[in-house]
Amino acid sequence: MAADPNCIFCKIVAGEIPCFKLFEDAETLAFMDINPVHDGHALVIPKAHSANVFEITPEDFAAAARTATKMAKAINAAVKPDGINLMQANGEGAGQSVGHFHLHIVPRRNDDGLLFNWDPKPGDRGHIAAVAARIREFL
Ligand code: 5GP
Ligand code: ZN
Repeated sequence: MAADPNCIFCKIVAGEIPCFKLFEDAETLAFMDINPVHDGHALVIPKAHSANVFEITPEDFAAAARTATKMAKAINAAVKPDGINLMQANGEGAGQSVGHFHLHIVPRRNDDGLLFNWDPKPGDRGHIAAVAARIREFL
């Protein structure tokens, strides 16, 4: 589907609003989540707009999955978490707040008590940029 003019992630794809970009290829973009639950929290999106798992094409899902495996390895190497969750929400009841399909790559710490529907808290931009630079070294 074409870009949605009201979609914040489509605006990031278009370069209309900034992001801490980690990686992009023809089909996908990976960038830092601006409200990270832990250092290294990143998002992988297909560049083409689709709202959720019900709308996305299998090809776009596959492309996002391919980029997610690459990102998970780099984040694991850069941040050295105790584990990583890949997470993906569809609909308000599942905690989806941005209506453009995205995979969360969530570094975890032992006993961090993280629940899946967490409260987003703004991250320090300078710190997010520094963690992004560390991750890019492993790409
Ligand atoms: P959801 O709640 O839909 O599963 O995840 C959306 C994620 O997008 C949230 O973790 C939120 O922090 C992140 N997010 C929302 N707006 C922006 C933005 O403008 N830039 C970036 N980098 N992340 C965003
Ligand atoms: Zn979009």
